[in-house]
Amino acid sequence: MLKKLSKYFRRHALPVISEPHIVRSGGHPLSARQITSGARKVVEQLVSDGFQAYLVGGCVRDLMLGLSPKDFDVATDATPEQVNKLFRRARIVGRRFQIVHVRMGAEVIEVTTFRAHHTEQGSNTRDESHRSAKGLLLRDNLFGSINEDASRRDFTMNALYYHPQDNSVYDYANGLADIERRIIRIIGDPEVRYREDPVRMLRAIRFAGKLGFSIEEKSAAAISKMAHLLADIPPARLFDEVLKLLMHGQALVTFRLLREYDLFRLLFPATEDALNEDPGWYLEFIEQALTNTDKRIRSGKRVTPAFLFAALLWPAAKQANKKFERSNISPVYALQQATADVLHRACQRVAIPRRFSMPMREIWEMQLRLPRRNGSQAFRLMENKRFRAGYDFLLLREDAGELEPGLGVWWTRFQEMDEDQRLKMVSTLAEPTPTKKRRRRRPRRSPATTQPDHD
Ligand code: ATP
Ligand code: MG
Repeated sequence: MLKKLSKYFRRHALPVISEPHIVRSGGHPLSARQITSGARKVVEQLVSDGFQAYLVGGCVRDLMLGLSPKDFDVATDATPEQVNKLFRRARIVGRRFQIVHVRMGAEVIEVTTFRAHHTEQGSNTRDESHRSAKGLLLRDNLFGSINEDASRRDFTMNALYYHPQDNSVYDYANGLADIERRIIRIIGDPEVRYREDPVRMLRAIRFAGKLGFSIEEKSAAAISKMAHLLADIPPARLFDEVLKLLMHGQALVTFRLLREYDLFRLLFPATEDALNEDPGWYLEFIEQALTNTDKRIRSGKRVTPAFLFAALLWPAAKQANKKFERSNISPVYALQQATADVLHRACQRVAIPRRFSMPMREIWEMQLRLPRRNGSQAFRLMENKRFRAGYDFLLLREDAGELEPGLGVWWTRFQEMDEDQRLKMVSTLAEPTPTKKRRRRRPRRSPATTQPDHD
């Protein structure tokens, strides 16, 4: 297998791009003023120490599109150790792909050393270059020239380098033309590049959703074919990717693309299974949750990943719940069992950290508590730190058609009322139907005091 693969990789070796297309000052819309002072300082410091340094990737792409970049990444020929020594507040991070985080005030600049091609032979150590039997790059720390670095990047639009000092854009892979045509095109052979790092498939979808670009035909065709490779990616990395996929303001479009390209089932298999048995509101529920998320993000409001995961996994939880309800246990216990089941399965693909899975559970548990409002229950519930999220979740369930509307409106009104009116609202509620009393076991008397029956 390995032999066959190495032949394959040699045959499809990436071309080293030799000459970039240079667009000088005046020929592009960028100016050094658009670069944050931290990023500029990092480039200046590296250059004054004799290294090459450029802004690269998403920041150049976004500025070309007139968007404000999320962050600024720097590429250099200095090794991570050299970068680390040069800046006081720097830290080397990552093992598979080592980079340096340089802190400048409140900013963190990611500094990446130019990467080289991986050949199958060679005297590289396993920390520099290491590939799995399936072609996955387990270590990508082989350093090279800027030309090699450009061809190792994922998409043509991301292989643009900008030098704030000469104010020129260096286009190594015809990225400017693709940006103009709004096309996402992988550099090199799509299958080889997805095999090296299957996360590139998710990145293609993310950029398609976020930027509204289309994926070039060959780059797109290879995705469904190679989708299964995502199963080999560590769940912690997939968690980071899922957040990036769904928290850029175009989650709904991105979700639809993920399903279209057959990638969603690799991230959320239980949800995909549930969607295939949709009773009529599952899809609507998820899409409504994502629409709300997009609206919040676009208006600068906070979005909690706990709520997002609670929504994405709810149809799966409902399916699991059915199974446990049949076993005649209490609804609370059935939901707890279903939650444990669903979370266990979900975390095998996407490792949801406890700081998000705990509040997620609480949002779900709140769904059983929100109908119980008698006495002081409603007042106490409103004090609960998960009340707001639980209430929003309830509204979503009603909107999607899982529940008849009613309870949500009651809670909306309850929150708007003053204390007296609230008491009135509670007093006019129907008494809860008494639950069947369990027969109490008579306490057993100790043998010493037990009187014989026949006495
Ligand atoms: P964003 O706007 O989300 O930050 P970005 O393109 O800057 O988008 P980053 O994750 O910040 O994405 O990566 C910076 C650059 O590093 C990319 O533009 C690309 O050139 C390169 N890159 C990132 N991930 C990969 C990958 N998996 N394979 C190849 N190149 C990558
Ligand atoms: Mg970036």
